Amino acid sequence: MHSLNVDLGERSYPILIGSGLLGNAEFLRTHIRGRQVLVVTNETIAPLYLEGLLESLAGFDKVDSVALPDGEAFKTLDTLNRIFDTLLEKRHDRSTTIVALGGGVIGDMSGFAAACYQRGVDFVQIPTTLLSQVDSSVGGKTGVNHPLGKNMIGAFYQPQLVLIDIDTLTTLPDRELSAGIAEVIKYGMICDAEFFAWLEVNMDRLLARDPEALAYAIQRSCADKAAVVAEDERESGRRAILNFGHTFGHAIEAVQGYGNWLHGEAVAAGMVMAAKLSQLRGWIEAEDVARLSVLLSKASLPQQSPANMGVDDYLTAMSVDKKVQDGKLRLVLLRALGDARVVADSPREQLIEALRACGA
Ligand code: NAD
Ligand code: MG
Repeated sequence: MHSLNVDLGERSYPILIGSGLLGNAEFLRTHIRGRQVLVVTNETIAPLYLEGLLESLAGFDKVDSVALPDGEAFKTLDTLNRIFDTLLEKRHDRSTTIVALGGGVIGDMSGFAAACYQRGVDFVQIPTTLLSQVDSSVGGKTGVNHPLGKNMIGAFYQPQLVLIDIDTLTTLPDRELSAGIAEVIKYGMICDAEFFAWLEVNMDRLLARDPEALAYAIQRSCADKAAVVAEDERESGRRAILNFGHTFGHAIEAVQGYGNWLHGEAVAAGMVMAAKLSQLRGWIEAEDVARLSVLLSKASLPQQSPANMGVDDYLTAMSVDKKVQDGKLRLVLLRALGDARVVADSPREQLIEALRACGA
């Protein structure tokens, strides 16, 4: 088993990564402080993993569960209310712990519910998608969508524990696995060139779901993200580098309609655009962009703009992106492979050229 600590002073917490952890009652007993637990999951994950988890929680006084409908479309205040309904109907008090069993949608909603219920109760994340294991379960961002904007209602709220059972990845659809790999590649690009080189050698093992390779990549990704978050918990500066490829990616998601392109797929194409722009700026080399391209194609991730989008679609969508401050578009670019910087002075012509180079 791998373990690492997210270092946030009194809000620090461990991440445990390994096989068979869902069935390990010991870890849950050690890290859950109260006697009451509510497991929040969805209708897809419940038949796969809920029973096993409930068995591990059998020693607690009160254990309830709620299975929400599956999908980003249900990441709303209405669905959140179902968590509160269950907590109140089943008379959970302030000593309860909310356990999120699922992907990023369940993790974000459960964390926000934990931040709000009786002004804050304990929270444990058991992420079951690669994306949630390497990204959304680390860093404390929680929340729901609003019809006028994604993740617009939420809170920073750190869990007591993140338990990553890599066995859950055996049932994850291939496309979701690849979407998670996009974020894994991102860490190599922005802050960990050595890990990027490891990925070049080991991508086939990840795609074959080799447990050791997965555990290593998850641990390294979590460590990279945790280090960035520890420096800047509430995103006033450096944490923004985690958005590498995301400004372009959000434009793709917004125009395609959420769900048609998975987030990781949009980020993959967005990373190529940002890498190309970094090259045009005279920072990274053409060879670095080519290395990214090879990794993405191995993972069957897109590298080109969707055919129905032109340069203007990006410019329009990006000017409303949350990375715009003082009227300037902030972008994350690469000074070198493994060294990301936030810039606010990217020339419009270069931006257009980078988009064109990616098929826009
Ligand atoms: P998701 O939660 O929608 O899960 C993807 C699909 O896989 C769902 O249908 C789910 O039911 C299914 N699934 C989950 N685990 C499975 C398993 N083990 N076997 C089979 N199927 C399984 O999507 P996601 O990619 O995990 O997360 C995306 C969400 O995370 C978005 O809402 C995004 O905003 C959020 N997010 C948050 C942060 C953060 O910092 N809080 C970071 C990145 C993403
Ligand atoms: Mg992301």
